[in-house]
Amino acid sequence: MMTAPYGVFALLASLMVDFSDGDLNNVIELFSALGLYSLAVVTGLLIMILVVYPIILRLFTKMKYLDFFKGIMPAQMLAFSTSSSAATLPVTMERCEDHLGVSEEVSSFVLPLGATINMDGTSLYQAVAAVFIAQAFGIDLDLTQQLTIVLTATLASIGAAAVPGAGLVMLVIVLGAVGMDPEGVALIFAVDRILDMLRTVVNVTGDATVATVIASSEGQLRAVNNDELMS
Ligand code: ASP
Repeated sequence: MMTAPYGVFALLASLMVDFSDGDLNNVIELFSALGLYSLAVVTGLLIMILVVYPIILRLFTKMKYLDFFKGIMPAQMLAFSTSSSAATLPVTMERCEDHLGVSEEVSSFVLPLGATINMDGTSLYQAVAAVFIAQAFGIDLDLTQQLTIVLTATLASIGAAAVPGAGLVMLVIVLGAVGMDPEGVALIFAVDRILDMLRTVVNVTGDATVATVIASSEGQLRAVNNDELMS
């Protein structure tokens, strides 16, 4: 493990040389493409947090998204700093039960299950990463390959462990499914940690959203007053 960073650096350096043909401009182009790739992932994750989850809560519960957000924020902070849905699970459960009003019966079933298999942020990231790597290798993806990426990214995210970097490891399966070289993963290694922090926030928020929706549909969502939500 201690020598892993040097190995990754060497892998990245050799890929850079292959891609750039010794031209510095190509290296700069590759780095700016990496910036755009990160931006695409962050935009997708923001859409999940600011559009998709609010719509789901609005459709299936009576909870205001701001209240939900205030209630779940400490779990999001922990998810951001640990990059692990599993490490965040106790705080997610505590926040859902005490600050969102989800019953213990629902939270103790839905949240551990969600932390293991419900990783919206991870699947989104894997799909964007696979397309980025294909473009970097100059591979034109046809519609079937694009649909294969969607399907395998969903399955790979379900199979990914709720620990830091698991999504990146499972990305190898997605690349393999469309016949791409798994070595391409090295291209996105440099920016993966920060994206891991962000996608874990989305994963945890998704779990809390589902727990709230299930609790509401089962009549197991009690009202919690706003002062309590603030604490
Ligand atoms: N770190 C993520 C999580 O624990 C998994 C991943 O995408 O790497 O939710």
